[in-house]
Amino acid sequence: MFAFNFNKIAMPIFYGKVALNTFLKSVKKQNTSIGFVPTMGALHQGHLSLMQQSLKENQYTVVSIFVNPTQFNNPEDLSKYPRTLEQDTEKINDLDPEIIIYAPSVEDIYEGNVNAESFDFDGLENQMEGKFRPGHFDGVGTIVKRLFEIVQPNNAYFGEKDFQQLQIVKKMTLKNNLAVTIVGCPIHREANGLAMSSRNERLTAQQREEASLISQTIFKTKELFKNKSPAAIKEWVAEVFEKNPTFDLEYFEIADEETLNPCIDPEKDKKYRAFIAVFVNNIRLIDTISLK
Ligand code: AMP
Repeated sequence: MFAFNFNKIAMPIFYGKVALNTFLKSVKKQNTSIGFVPTMGALHQGHLSLMQQSLKENQYTVVSIFVNPTQFNNPEDLSKYPRTLEQDTEKINDLDPEIIIYAPSVEDIYEGNVNAESFDFDGLENQMEGKFRPGHFDGVGTIVKRLFEIVQPNNAYFGEKDFQQLQIVKKMTLKNNLAVTIVGCPIHREANGLAMSSRNERLTAQQREEASLISQTIFKTKELFKNKSPAAIKEWVAEVFEKNPTFDLEYFEIADEETLNPCIDPEKDKKYRAFIAVFVNNIRLIDTISLK
């Protein structure tokens, strides 16, 4: 028997918001739900798992592929960010050719004004990624709000890999009264534990192997959290990376999942998470784990 589904013809890619919007309006009837997965491309299994969840829960799934300039505080990181639209389209079509791809230009999104709006995320923006990447979350808020206006999804899927971003998007949606349900999805990892990331493409095979130290370390902090103080755990993590010249630790933090405030003395009824950002040869990698 053939496994191919000849009835499914790949959707054309939408490069402009007007055509996308017209198409979505034409298919959106009462009780039709649209799931949305915003990405910056260079797709891997982590991205595809978000799409799979959206496909399960919605009649239509829209995936955006857009490297958003206003969320990059480091110009080299922006220019070196992998751009692989052709392979991305193939991966999406292999998963399900009915997925709607929106791959806009900078002009289509920003209309000549490539600047971020200023947001107040009730302090979520001042911790960790916000501290080390000034302006990053204003850029994230700007693009997510803009994409929500264009796609008007019922559900939007974000990875827990970027847990702070997930909390910020939830806050932005709440504060702006947007009718979108934000769904958090689990982290996909390589066989060696390294969290999948488009930036992993820039690592050599050896660095990719060595980078498993990042996940191994935060997995260990989950054990330590049972009977060691956050301060002692932070000290231990700093020592692990100091000993290893391949890595440059930017931060390790244990924080309250809701407020993202650093945890000094753990309280019984609160949920905490470990967060880490590490450079491997100038390539910045992040990871996180629930400590519950
Ligand atoms: P990005 O293309 O890096 O902006 O990521 C697009 C979406 O995919 C974000 O919601 C990320 O949190 C999510 N994502 C990235 N890496 C992973 C992963 N390893 N597992 C699950 N989701 C991920």
